Amino acid sequence: MVVAEHSVTILGRKWLNEEVFELECTRPEGFEFVAGQHVTMRYQEDEREYTILSPPSADSLLFLIKRIDQGRLSSILATLDIGGELSISKAMGYLIYRPTDRPIYFVGTGVGIAPFVSMARAGVKNFTLLHGAREIAGLFFRQDLMLAATRYIPCVSGKLSPETNVIDLHPGYVTDYIDRYVKPGAYDFYLCGSRPMIHDMTHLLDQHFPETRIYSEAFN
Ligand SMILES: Cc1cc2nc3c(=O)[nH]c(=O)nc-3n(C[C@H](O)[C@H](O)[C@H](O)COP(=O)(O)OP(=O)(O)OC[C@H]3O[C@@H](n4cnc5c(N)ncnc54)[C@H](O)[C@@H]3O)c2cc1C
Repeated sequence: MVVAEHSVTILGRKWLNEEVFELECTRPEGFEFVAGQHVTMRYQEDEREYTILSPPSADSLLFLIKRIDQGRLSSILATLDIGGELSISKAMGYLIYRPTDRPIYFVGTGVGIAPFVSMARAGVKNFTLLHGAREIAGLFFRQDLMLAATRYIPCVSGKLSPETNVIDLHPGYVTDYIDRYVKPGAYDFYLCGSRPMIHDMTHLLDQHFPETRIYSEAFN
């Protein structure tokens, strides 16, 4: 059990689609973090990890949360009253930007885009972003990310309508894009999303680019 160190108040909730919402909380006095880090959030008996979506310069703390069917804490966070109180730990985690001469790829799928949104808003530049979602509406923060990334590649794995018109759209999984289009080389890859995505991507990168460094965080 992680000892919660700070109490925060819920300031607002904004739904981005039927299952994903932004949760805004107060930022405790003296709470420091690096873009890409997460906290352990606790409400009564339940505690889970959530990545901070806002940049370190922000006055409040934003989180990007997917409500899981039958999920204990995500369901509570989806319905708790504004003004309600939660506990959070200090910021933790190593999925943070490390300057390098190598080409950098960020790969975020679903709510796993959160650390890269925080990094982009903190001013991190010079990265290619592979942004994976089942449908175009799930490419949260697309406009902001397109502006920050050297190259932004939306990878949509679900069915697309024939009139879909999105720049550089890859119709398939992020792994499929790497497999087909990324040339041999030594890269720094940052991965965030589901465990199966991270498993498959790590396997692929090890096979294709043995010199590559991989930093990853699995959300489930
Ligand atoms: C380092 C780290 C950072 C994380 N950051 C975020 C974040 O920014 N946003 C976010 O939404 N989540 C994030 N998570 C996941 C989060 O901690 C919870 O696991 C998630 O919200 C589910 O918790 P729950 O209490 O609602 O579900 P639980 O009650 O724990 O689980 C209920 C059921 O749902 C299944 N389940 C759990 N998670 C998922 C999932 N993601 N998809 C489908 N089924 C699932 C479980 O296997 C179980 O059967 C992060 C996890 C880690 C380890």
